[in-house]
Amino acid sequence: MNLVRRAIVCGSCGQSSEQIQTNSGGESGAPDLDTRPNGLVRSTIAFWMQRCPHCGYCAGDISSIHEQAADLIASEAYQKQLNDARFPAKACEFLAHALILDQVGQYADAGWTCLHAAWVCDDNGGNGQAAARGRAMEYWRKAKLAGEDFAEPELEHALATDLLRRMGRFEDALINCNQALDAEEPLPDLIEHLLRFEKTLIQRQDTGTYRLSDLPAFQS
Ligand SMILES: [Zn+2]
Repeated sequence: MNLVRRAIVCGSCGQSSEQIQTNSGGESGAPDLDTRPNGLVRSTIAFWMQRCPHCGYCAGDISSIHEQAADLIASEAYQKQLNDARFPAKACEFLAHALILDQVGQYADAGWTCLHAAWVCDDNGGNGQAAARGRAMEYWRKAKLAGEDFAEPELEHALATDLLRRMGRFEDALINCNQALDAEEPLPDLIEHLLRFEKTLIQRQDTGTYRLSDLPAFQS
């Protein structure tokens, strides 16, 4: 992995700190059912979010901050989220960044950031993963109410189904899955295979992580 250490001046408090950036990419193979990449990219998640050690500002790049979020960093709600012991510390950084995105009205991205927090939880024994996925669902619901898509329309149901299943909310997952499968519009083949696989997993009450390459349609 290619790691670069750089001194960055925080856009929120103006103090400098050393941050690590990674520029590794390359082939990642088949992603998980919730789009999480595999291969080398998967292991770089610890470097997706920078955290200012002075004020606690968390972002992919802390050198600048949205003007509407400037007051949020010092707030009790933000600082509490940053130190929420129910989640791994790295997951807290993603969840805190989601509060910023929420504040500036970027609800779809706030949801994705919470899903990334859930991936960090998955990698650290699973504590907090269901709560993080629940928050992703809440932000995505907020996005839809605001007229914002969080993914390609056909993919949204499949994503919601996977998050609900991973949270152990099997009834809700099944409702979501069936709604998509029963829709009049024909589904793209991949989404149809994905939803049918999800249905099997829901019926087995399986909360595990699977890749697209696990789909029966892709097994030869
Ligand atoms: Zn700072």
